Amino acid sequence: MRTVITGGAGFIGSHLTDYLLKRGDSVTVFDDLSTGTLENLTEARKNPNFSFIEGTVLDKAAIHDAIAGSDRVFHLAAAVGVQLIVEQPLTSLRTNIHGTENVLDAVKAAGSKLLLASTSEVYGKNSSDALHEESDRILGDALKSRWTYAAAKGIDEAFAHAYWSEYGVPVTIVRLFNTVGPRQTGRYGMVVPNLIGQALTGTPLTVFGDGQQTRCFSYVADVVPALVKLAEDERSVGQAYNLGGAQEISIFELANQIVERLESESLVSLIPYEQAYAAGYEDMRRRVPDNTKANKLIGFEPETRIPQIIDFVAGDLRARNGLEDRLMQQAGSLLSVAV
Ligand code: UDP
Repeated sequence: MRTVITGGAGFIGSHLTDYLLKRGDSVTVFDDLSTGTLENLTEARKNPNFSFIEGTVLDKAAIHDAIAGSDRVFHLAAAVGVQLIVEQPLTSLRTNIHGTENVLDAVKAAGSKLLLASTSEVYGKNSSDALHEESDRILGDALKSRWTYAAAKGIDEAFAHAYWSEYGVPVTIVRLFNTVGPRQTGRYGMVVPNLIGQALTGTPLTVFGDGQQTRCFSYVADVVPALVKLAEDERSVGQAYNLGGAQEISIFELANQIVERLESESLVSLIPYEQAYAAGYEDMRRRVPDNTKANKLIGFEPETRIPQIIDFVAGDLRARNGLEDRLMQQAGSLLSVAV
């Protein structure tokens, strides 16, 4: 099986790469290293079945070459994270829309098949008890970067679906809800590595707004096997699936659990949104997945709970070299998001 993973040097992509290599696949990672790193592929690069191509999905010829001869493609390359989306709206739009179309074109030409990584962001601010795949999308002002991003990912999905319905390209769509775990960087605003990094260095945990907004964090090692199972189940073609965590938690509660679990001396401090986010960004109050569809098809059952997630992420942050330096950089980035 020859698999191509776009964005394979990123957080989720690199875990997927390791997982497929362990199963004996040949894996080619195609990544522009904009947010991903070769460090994430340290293990993978020792494997003779692994190859790496540095390139952007905006380069049509390069992505066609990379995908030619593949059996399947996982498309994870995307502009993600609050900071990137706010500071580079054009790059984000181009990567997420034109890049995906280029990948779909290349998959069609190669006679391959595709799993498209989408996001719970497509539901926008629908704060229902459990978002199922056909739930309404409630988006705010089209000029606000968060909703622009949500719209772009929605267009991605529509492109993928149309390649399936018009051209018969086998495409499966997965909507990921706040996937977390080792290798995720706090550099682009993600809350779990940010808060854990702060707890480890004894700096105040920055909880935005009143901290009562909630998320359901899913652990990367629960999500990756599900991505593969969905890609390998023919019944998933032409469909979208939620993959999210099972436990709803407020960010304030998360911060307190982190401090307690890591026996940190850090305080938890509430940062008003005006200071936390650049103008044009808006937070989401609640986001709860309904995983029933993936559960019925592939038995998806997220198992890893918050305490374990805290342990694994803290262990990873501690293990990586230069923790202090990196956290200083992240803190700098965080401040540059603040206005
Ligand atoms: N958040 C926070 N402190 C941080 C980073 C994020 O309180 O240092 C909040 C953010 O406002 C949001 C939640 O944590 O309510 C999750 O943020 P993240 O960017 O990780 O994911 P998303 O908002 O895309 O669900």
